[in-house]
Amino acid sequence: MSGLRRRLRAATLLLLALPGLQAQLPVRDAAELQKQLDRLQTVGSVLYVAAHPDDENTAVLATLARGRHLRTAYLSLTRGGGGQDLIGPELGDSLAAIRTQELRAARRIDGAEQFFSSAVDFGFSKTAEESLRLWHHERVLGEVVRTIRAFRPDVILTRFPPDARAGHGHHTASALLAIEAFTAAADPARFPEQLRAGLRPWQARRLLWNLFRFGDDAPRPPAGSLRLDVGAFDPLLGRSYGELAAESRSQHRSQGFGVLAQRGPWEEGFELLAGEPARTDLFEGIDLTWARFPGTADLAARLREARAAFRPDRPAASLPRLTQALQALRALAPAVQAEPLVQAKAAELEEALRVAAGLWVEAIADRQRVAPGDRLTVSAQLLVRGGAPLALDSLSLEAVTPQGSRVLERRGEGRPLPADAARKEAFTFTLPPDTPLSQPPWLDGPGGEAWAGLPEAPAPFRVWARLALPEGAFEVTVPVQFRFRDPILGERTQPLAVVPPVLVNLAEAVQIFTAGGARDLRLKVLAGGAGAAGRVRLQVPAGWAVQPAEQPFTLARAGEEKELTFRLSPPAGTASGELRAEVDTGAGFAPARSLLKLDHPHIPLQTLLPLAQARLERFELKRTGQRIGYVMGAGDEIPHALRRLGYQVELLTDEALAQESLQGYDAIVLGIRAFNTRPALQTLKERLHAYVAAGGTEVVLYTVNTGFPGINAAMVTDTIGPYPFKVGRRRVTVETVPVRFLQPAHPLFHRPNELSAADFDGWVQERSLYHAEGWDARYVPLLGMADPGEAEDGGALLVAEHGQGRYVYTGLAFFRQLPDGVPGATRLFANLLALGHPHD
Ligand SMILES: [Zn+2]
Repeated sequence: MSGLRRRLRAATLLLLALPGLQAQLPVRDAAELQKQLDRLQTVGSVLYVAAHPDDENTAVLATLARGRHLRTAYLSLTRGGGGQDLIGPELGDSLAAIRTQELRAARRIDGAEQFFSSAVDFGFSKTAEESLRLWHHERVLGEVVRTIRAFRPDVILTRFPPDARAGHGHHTASALLAIEAFTAAADPARFPEQLRAGLRPWQARRLLWNLFRFGDDAPRPPAGSLRLDVGAFDPLLGRSYGELAAESRSQHRSQGFGVLAQRGPWEEGFELLAGEPARTDLFEGIDLTWARFPGTADLAARLREARAAFRPDRPAASLPRLTQALQALRALAPAVQAEPLVQAKAAELEEALRVAAGLWVEAIADRQRVAPGDRLTVSAQLLVRGGAPLALDSLSLEAVTPQGSRVLERRGEGRPLPADAARKEAFTFTLPPDTPLSQPPWLDGPGGEAWAGLPEAPAPFRVWARLALPEGAFEVTVPVQFRFRDPILGERTQPLAVVPPVLVNLAEAVQIFTAGGARDLRLKVLAGGAGAAGRVRLQVPAGWAVQPAEQPFTLARAGEEKELTFRLSPPAGTASGELRAEVDTGAGFAPARSLLKLDHPHIPLQTLLPLAQARLERFELKRTGQRIGYVMGAGDEIPHALRRLGYQVELLTDEALAQESLQGYDAIVLGIRAFNTRPALQTLKERLHAYVAAGGTEVVLYTVNTGFPGINAAMVTDTIGPYPFKVGRRRVTVETVPVRFLQPAHPLFHRPNELSAADFDGWVQERSLYHAEGWDARYVPLLGMADPGEAEDGGALLVAEHGQGRYVYTGLAFFRQLPDGVPGATRLFANLLALGHPHD
């Protein structure tokens, strides 16, 4: 469960947004335009519901969105911040931000849209009951209902069954919530505030479970289940939906879920959970044509004609009929136009018009980062590349806030856009004070109510153009972005980030005091936008002292930063609390925010602006042994956490392990999943065991014994210790359960730190994972623990004497506790590192 306290606090501020229209798949070439014209003939929608980024079946999404041309969306209840990151050190909110974007990247390939609820991924959960309790059942149910009422899907699909077969408690809970919401969304008595806000009740036709299928050897869909062929080949795409699905799924890089493409026939099965049964097709009995809406005969006829007359080498020839279709759509009864499905079609139609006209529109900011009050120049460019007789009716720069968009500047026109001559317009303006900061709405950023259910906030500025053809007009909107030349990668764009004028980055998010004296605390003030001047101060809890009380700073230019040092004195005894930085630039002191950039090649640059605060921990810690070797596995922040405590930590390469003398290390630690990610350990483990036999201490953190082929990496060797044991799948997910000392006299509990039950207070997210099992009698289990209702297990911490030294396997979640500065876990880890010095 977690930094859960912290994150739930943030989450309680959020209500789900009305899922608005998302940018449709960007259409580029004539084949995609032809698909877009096909898509315009189909009028239906489907919502897929599960718990996490990666739960969704991308083959089903790709087939429905790009093969069946249905409006398709995936509702992921969480953003996946509770897992581990395979591409960097990010955990918690940062990881959730990365996974949010990985879902967006996946959807750009499979063609679906993406929604979220406010449910927090608090780590592995064994029961749906626990998940629903910690998610605040009624709140998340309301958000699922709201998504259904706003999206109005014909069919709802779940990834999981509503029972223990789903495995993870989050999975079971996602199916239970979908079943409840299926009925509640149609009931005007449920969540009536949504109806007052303009939503209407909605009854989807049926709800089905998308039956499991893990790996190739999984059984075919059972006889009698509804089936969907997801392996079809699409000649316009030059790929099958199975190939698209693999490409989409491989965007989940932070989970290491790259997969091989599946080619050839492939069927998915479905089982009815609620609603009307179907015998042959998911959409049986549902009208998926325009005829489902009144008054659309003319519109449908124009769209059919446009499709029939389409010529890939002369797309502009489709413009008259597409323009007439748009006019017919705009002439529909207001109630019909307000249908979410019709709005989506309108956006698709305008995109088709833009592509058929060969129109390029861009809006480029002159820098990536700005603050409210700064001057910014946006260069808009329009270019007609297809010889279409377009005129620019109107062009405007708009600001987007949670309250809606407003025009900052409009330029009337009505003049033709000459073919192949770029029209350039520059807008220079001062950022309004209410420009929303780029902190995500689902954290504590602006736009909570309006934007929280969206993957991310919309771009803060956009350029809107109204273009006229002889038969009528259409509109194009593009976000203002930053663009730059990367010497290696070429043209790159990044979202425009809006940040406070002054940012404060603290050197450490956790400040640990293990000795009594005062210590320096370093921080950087940096200019968010143009230069700024002011004062910065630190607020500390009672008992702590900080010198000086405040410090002035002057930042002359954009991007300039200055390092400042404060001196912090802890109280005498054990204490913990929160430190906050505050900044005054003239209007009085206010909480400062930090700048956190997440830059990965497969997703857009992410800017997070968390409050500039650090946790203070003062506790007694004795260290025996100084020099620690660390064998990094999948990636964790333990080396940094150890250095912060004063240890000398050296990261050991395979070469160092093979050739260096290891005897100089007081202990060698194998980081999380080292036996999943370091093939060389298959043989180098013997050198480690020899180091132990000669008196060393080897501490192996959890490794994963492969669960699902193709999902978790296999272990590089079956035997990781000097004596046999297996890595199992037991874990203790409740971080508050009591822990029993099985051998109270063991030195681990006494040297150099005297441990007690209190050292198991304050742990975060979980106690342990991937316990040892079936161990040789030479291993001594030292801690007994269990989740509520389960039998006690000793596999979380084993110690064996081997020759002159000690070998340790532990599933305890040190990779979460140590970076977080959890005192008891830190003291326990110090004792593990000291096992080779029993007499000191
Ligand atoms: Zn999952």
